[in-house]
Amino acid sequence: MKKRLREIKEQLARREYRLTPQREAIVRLFLDWPGEHLSADDVFTRMRDRHPDIGLATVYRTLELLAELGILQKLDFGSVRSQYELSPPGDGHFHHHLICLRCGKIQEFEPDGLEELEEEARETGFKVIDHSLRFYGYCLECRRADQE
Ligand SMILES: [Zn+2]
Ligand SMILES: [Zn+2]
Ligand SMILES: [Zn+2]
Repeated sequence: MKKRLREIKEQLARREYRLTPQREAIVRLFLDWPGEHLSADDVFTRMRDRHPDIGLATVYRTLELLAELGILQKLDFGSVRSQYELSPPGDGHFHHHLICLRCGKIQEFEPDGLEELEEEARETGFKVIDHSLRFYGYCLECRRADQE
C-alpha cells in the first residue's frame, strides 16, 4: 500500500501537482477500501470523523483532479450519480461492472470472456489497449424489494 501511495505521488508530481494532506487523505481512503465504488458524498461521509477540515467542495475538486490524472476512474452512468474507484496499477485491465439502475449500486464482475472478441478487433489492424463492458439492470436487493 505504501508503494502504491508513492506511485500516486510520483504520478501527481509528473503533472506538477503535490500530494497535499487533503489529497493524500482521499487517496488513502480508496486504498483502504479496495474494490469500492464511491461517490463524492460517500467519500465525504467516510472522511468526516478523521478529517473534519475537508469540505464537500474540496472532495469534489480532488476527485475530479485525480480522475483527470488517471489515478481514479470516474464511473458516470447517466441518471446514476458519479462514482469513483482506484485505477489498476500500471496499464492493468479493469474489471467489468454491473450497474443497478434503481439504487445506483455498482458491482464488479470479474469473468472477462472478451479475449476472443479482442483478438478479432486486433485482426482489423487496430491496436487494442483495453476494453470495458457495462451491464445495466437491477441488483438482487432491488429485485427482492420489488417482490415484497
Ligand atoms: Zn439496486
Ligand atoms: Zn469497478
Ligand atoms: Zn475485460
